[in-house]
Amino acid sequence: MVDLEKIISLCKRRGFIFQGSEQYCGLQGTWDYGPLGVELKNNVKRAWWRRVVYERDDMEGLDTSILMNRLVMKYSGHEDTFSDPMVDCRKCKKRFRADHIDANEKCAEGDKHDFTEPRPFNLMFKTVVGPVADESNVSYLRPETAQGIFINFKNVLDSTNRKLPFGIAQIGKSYRNEITPRNFIFRVREFEQMEIEFFVMPGDDEEWHKKWVDARYNWYVELGIKPENLRKYEQAKEELAHYAKATVDLLYRFFPDRADEDKQYDEVEGISNRTDFDLTCHTKGGKLVLNDGREIPNTHAINKLTYFDHKTNKHLLPYVIEPSAGVDRATLAFLMDSYCEETVNDSTRVVLKLNPELAPIKVAVLPLKKNNENIRNTALKVKNELMKKSGWRTVYDDTAGIGKLYRRQDEIGTPYCVTVDFDTLEDNSVTVRDRDTMAQERVKIEELQTYLSQKLGNV
Ligand code: ATP
Repeated sequence: MVDLEKIISLCKRRGFIFQGSEQYCGLQGTWDYGPLGVELKNNVKRAWWRRVVYERDDMEGLDTSILMNRLVMKYSGHEDTFSDPMVDCRKCKKRFRADHIDANEKCAEGDKHDFTEPRPFNLMFKTVVGPVADESNVSYLRPETAQGIFINFKNVLDSTNRKLPFGIAQIGKSYRNEITPRNFIFRVREFEQMEIEFFVMPGDDEEWHKKWVDARYNWYVELGIKPENLRKYEQAKEELAHYAKATVDLLYRFFPDRADEDKQYDEVEGISNRTDFDLTCHTKGGKLVLNDGREIPNTHAINKLTYFDHKTNKHLLPYVIEPSAGVDRATLAFLMDSYCEETVNDSTRVVLKLNPELAPIKVAVLPLKKNNENIRNTALKVKNELMKKSGWRTVYDDTAGIGKLYRRQDEIGTPYCVTVDFDTLEDNSVTVRDRDTMAQERVKIEELQTYLSQKLGNV
């Protein structure tokens, strides 16, 4: 399996992902998506939205603000408890996340680190809203998209007349001031999440939790992740957050070169049964229960976030199942899983065997001879018409010989290349080459779109 270093190098070379602020030597924990990266990431988000919103009858979408009233983060518990344990090394002065220390890591100032006692470090980025920089105007860059969903529960319920069970999906940026961002886009300070809050009747929660674990696992596998690289990990009671009844993490094999097999796998998504914890925090007259048992009554919220159950004629607080995925980690998993190196005619062919739905470019149209005006113009026409009719991201490239052009498209995961040659000018046909099998077929230009639609499916 490919290691992270090869993926980082491919991403930089081919314009998937660049270091953030590279022009000024970078900003740790930030990455910029390039021309191909933005397409891939958008396709990951679209594939998620399609499966969890469009293809279900029990979901709605939402897009809420990154900046929220500070009280949201107070009553959600983030102000008090959204922290990681941090230690300093007294010798080298470096900071570490206490639960991520590698026992083999050596201190730059001597053999062993000399750590301070762990202390909590709040991961939220603080900012001020408006021109007056005082405490009353403090807000945070949201550390997850979920809170925007909870505080809009009533708005969505009232405006859609939904009945339980139903869910709300949201995709958006989240920010965490991670103590040690690392491993490329795996742990960053600015990232995107794809989150669902699925509201159910108390009592139906365990069944729905299982259903969502399966649905989310299947999503990755249907889009090409090999089952042997994806694990379901059920958190033990002592690992669970104090509000969670159960959590299953989906772990991808991000670190295949680690000696300990269990350490090769890390979280791409977590699916939690959060009971009614969040709606209880934010509902009018509700309360936040902290992990040490302290209770903070909610004296600010203006609406009850309850659901009226017609069967019992009672208002109740629904339970919630939360499948929470990282866009960047999912994108990395798809990149790693699709990467292949094959030997063809004594040379190495790098191929991204991406599912066509995720591929940044669906079709590349290539002229066999760029200095033949007829061939070039025909190829451009084929490209433009295909693009216009199908809506697929289709490109034209004539910057190298045909062999090199094929290799370039293989390396970025383009499923089909269409070549215009001398015969095309006579028979109005083109050669279509399949990325994975390298098989070639002659297809009439007028039948090209139908032919490719059948091959590409619903992309
Ligand atoms: P970790 O234990 O790795 O810090 P977490 O359990 O805190 O992750 P959640 O709060 O459950 O993560 O967030 C849901 C998802 O958001 C994660 O599964 C991951 O895909 C993504 N995510 C969280 N933090 C980061 C980050 N710093 N960089 C990239 N993605 C992240």
